[in-house]
Amino acid sequence: MENPIGRRRLLAGAGAALLVGALDGCSIDTLGRRRLAPAPTLELARLRASPDRITAITVCTRPFRAQGPRLDVERLGAKTVVHNYGHGGSGWSLSWGSSALATQKALATDERDIGVIGCGALGLTSALLLQRAGARVTIYSKDLPPNVRSSLATGLWTPDSRICFEDSATPAFKQLWEGMARQSFQTYQTLLGLPGNPVEFIDNYFVTDDPHTQRREPAPADPRPKFAELQRELIADLIPDTTDFGPGTHSLGAHYLRRNSLMMFNLSTYARMLLGDFRTNGGQIEIKEFHSPADFASLPQRTLINATGYGARALFGDQSLTPIRGQLARMIPQPEVGYGLYYKRVSFVPRRDGLVFQVVGNDDYYGFNDDTTTPSRAEAELAVNTIGGLFSI
Ligand SMILES: Cc1cc2nc3c(=O)[nH]c(=O)nc-3n(C[C@H](O)[C@H](O)[C@H](O)COP(=O)(O)OP(=O)(O)OC[C@H]3O[C@@H](n4cnc5c(N)ncnc54)[C@H](O)[C@@H]3O)c2cc1C
Repeated sequence: MENPIGRRRLLAGAGAALLVGALDGCSIDTLGRRRLAPAPTLELARLRASPDRITAITVCTRPFRAQGPRLDVERLGAKTVVHNYGHGGSGWSLSWGSSALATQKALATDERDIGVIGCGALGLTSALLLQRAGARVTIYSKDLPPNVRSSLATGLWTPDSRICFEDSATPAFKQLWEGMARQSFQTYQTLLGLPGNPVEFIDNYFVTDDPHTQRREPAPADPRPKFAELQRELIADLIPDTTDFGPGTHSLGAHYLRRNSLMMFNLSTYARMLLGDFRTNGGQIEIKEFHSPADFASLPQRTLINATGYGARALFGDQSLTPIRGQLARMIPQPEVGYGLYYKRVSFVPRRDGLVFQVVGNDDYYGFNDDTTTPSRAEAELAVNTIGGLFSI
């Protein structure tokens, strides 16, 4: 949370010490006028970032496909299966738009009793959109939130994060992605200001030691394929402008800050809300694990949406799904801290359901093709201590 300290506070007599302190820093300009030295204008509530406050370390895999999410329709015996998986690091962000497409395809079969396989970001939004269109819906899933991968995400609007490789971002894909991103963005606007703040905007500060922006891109000589970056090209109008703060204008010492606004999802409240809405609308949930698509034959519904995320790799033998490991260190919430930070390749997100610290690495290849889920305490402490270092001044 910010506390702008400015001229208004000084003039209002906020305390002699403060005023004297400010006047001590005054200078005389060429015309002999006294000028106040610029006082800090931005005070960020102090973050208590220390390893002893870590409450959990979670690891999860992003379901990345080089060609982008799988959204085709497949006929499997008597079933029509609409695929809706493989959204990389953008599953929550694109969920409403992607699931709207899946819903249209499912409803095009004229069935009104539809099964959704999976209860993560894509399964929940598919199920709700089907209900809103008048369908009767049953979710079949081996796990429910908070025990699904979606519950272990960072919780930011990141619609082009590891969504596909650059060479797969054809004009047709860009059009598809833009539609999904815009529809999701607009749906999220309808979820602002609700009890428990499932969705909210935060200020985020990109912090550097020098005035030059650090970039998170592979070096030009890197022979690996580049991940597509689509936001600036296709939805720049949805990205708020940034504001810069130099040393002396904020409370984080000799650093350079660039502020922007980001949409954040408090995933515990949000997933609980989606699940609650689904049940309130008469939705049924059956805990069930499928070992092969042939198991779908046992379901009464003829039309299914497959939203099994990374699980589709084993279930459908989809080797195009590449795991991208990501680890979060969660910390005791601090309700007074309402801003996020990015510093030295570590991100901090002020989730109300537990602060989130994450080493994000040099580039989007960090964690690529790594499906190990053993938490690293050292990585968690590195993340917390890097951010904590900003407050040790
Ligand atoms: C560290 C990290 C940070 C991330 N941060 C963000 C972020 O800030 N913003 C963002 O938009 N995205 C983020 N993502 C990406 C996002 O989490 C995923 O894209 C998204 O969770 C995928 O959702 P899903 O519904 O497809 O899959 P899942 O959440 O994995 O859901 C799959 C569902 O299918 C079920 N299932 C799977 N296999 C079977 C089976 N064989 N039988 C029965 N049921 C099955 C599971 O139980 C589950 O219910 C992040 C990912 C990671 C790892």
